Amino acid sequence: MTIAPPVTRDGSEFKATIQDTPGMRMLYSAQNHLDDAVERLNLDPNLHKILRTCERSLAVSVPIMTDDGNIEVYTGYRVQHTSVRGPCKGGIRYHADVTIEEVTALAQLMTWKCAVLDLPYGGAKGGICVSPQTLSENELRRLTRRYTYAILPIIGPKKDIPAPDINTDERTMAWISDTYSMLKGEAIQEIVTGKPINLGGSLGRADATGLGVAIIAESSMKRLDMPIENATVVIQGFGKVGYWAAHYLAKDGCKIIAVSDVSGGYHNPDGLDIEAMFTYTKTSATRTLEDYQAPGVERVSNEELLELECDVLIPAALEDQITSLNADRIQAKLIVEGANGPTSATADKILEARNIVLVPDILANAGGVTVSYFEWVQGLQAFPWNIDDVRKNLRRFLDNAFQQVSDFSERNQVSLRNGAFMVAVSRVAEAMAQRGIFP
Ligand code: NAD
Repeated sequence: MTIAPPVTRDGSEFKATIQDTPGMRMLYSAQNHLDDAVERLNLDPNLHKILRTCERSLAVSVPIMTDDGNIEVYTGYRVQHTSVRGPCKGGIRYHADVTIEEVTALAQLMTWKCAVLDLPYGGAKGGICVSPQTLSENELRRLTRRYTYAILPIIGPKKDIPAPDINTDERTMAWISDTYSMLKGEAIQEIVTGKPINLGGSLGRADATGLGVAIIAESSMKRLDMPIENATVVIQGFGKVGYWAAHYLAKDGCKIIAVSDVSGGYHNPDGLDIEAMFTYTKTSATRTLEDYQAPGVERVSNEELLELECDVLIPAALEDQITSLNADRIQAKLIVEGANGPTSATADKILEARNIVLVPDILANAGGVTVSYFEWVQGLQAFPWNIDDVRKNLRRFLDNAFQQVSDFSERNQVSLRNGAFMVAVSRVAEAMAQRGIFP
């Protein structure tokens, strides 16, 4: 594959063109963040050359026998950005839009996310270009096992540890763990994280990302001298990240005034009953908030929801939600990125100029990979932790990272996004310089 050309910091979105695929735009964006941090840190251009490339990119053919006896062939990838700070870590997604550029961009972002949390990992990502909804459970199992076999030479508990991502879950991880263990002839459950608890998964993994978003949001409010009690919060997305963030923030006294999911937005200026809404999604026909009604609740579109007046806005659904088209209408004082990449580069600049504080995804949603790290540690030690240990350590890692990034950004007069990337890139570059270039 070709590596994206250097991108200048000239105020334009990226050097992407309309013909570029979303994956290519993601790669330009990821490299733009790296280039920007390198320039601000005045880093050695030789280290920059290495950091712009990925250590290993593998494309594999994944043939499977379909239930009706035919053969279908899918393409899968596993990309490892750098193992300079430890084994590579990152999810595996099953989606029709998966491309090598997208997987490469996500692998690089995993490096920075792990580094900002000071986890002893480098970044990786994997994926198969497939619409999993069109496959039966048996076909999905065969797909997963064949893909595991195909990437087996480059994964391992001390090499590269996959995890769930879009359209993969603990069942997928159980199949990968089993396939890897069978082929190696020994029990190696620590090859993946995000496993079922019964197979070595960690307590506290399911809500870790949303809890982390809530912890970071509250730390940011404290730092900005915003009261937490009755702070008004708007959340886009009511899934694994959005719901749990809402749950913990409401528990700590915040007023969640609007949430949305794929069915649209629900707004009550006096506060929503988050647990009643969650219960509703468990039994509604579409398993969403569609047709949810309660006294005082009015419907808003997803676009309107983002522009509501509030103290804290948490985009926790999709990428590219706050862009040059709506950034000047955002009324929140603080934005905490629960989703990956919800804010465009141009929007970043508009928000910064309007003094809206934004906590970037690589810090705000890192609770998930942090508990994945705890799961790996528990697996290597064959010693499960209790939930209090998981929560206490999650808070410790997030508090440290938040403090370091906030102090660094304040000292260097840069945004929290720039600060987070600068902290992460300098840690990786320092490790590279300390180790030297092999041979
Ligand atoms: P999820 O599938 O559990 O939930 C996604 C939510 O977004 C659902 O409520 C869905 O209805 C909603 N949604 C979809 N389209 C929407 C739209 N157009 N408008 C408003 N809402 C819409 O996914 P998740 O795990 O909660 O992930 C959400 C985001 O967080 C993604 O960007 C993901 O990459 C990121 N993230 C997740 C984790 C994790 O541990 N789950 C970790 C880090 C980052």
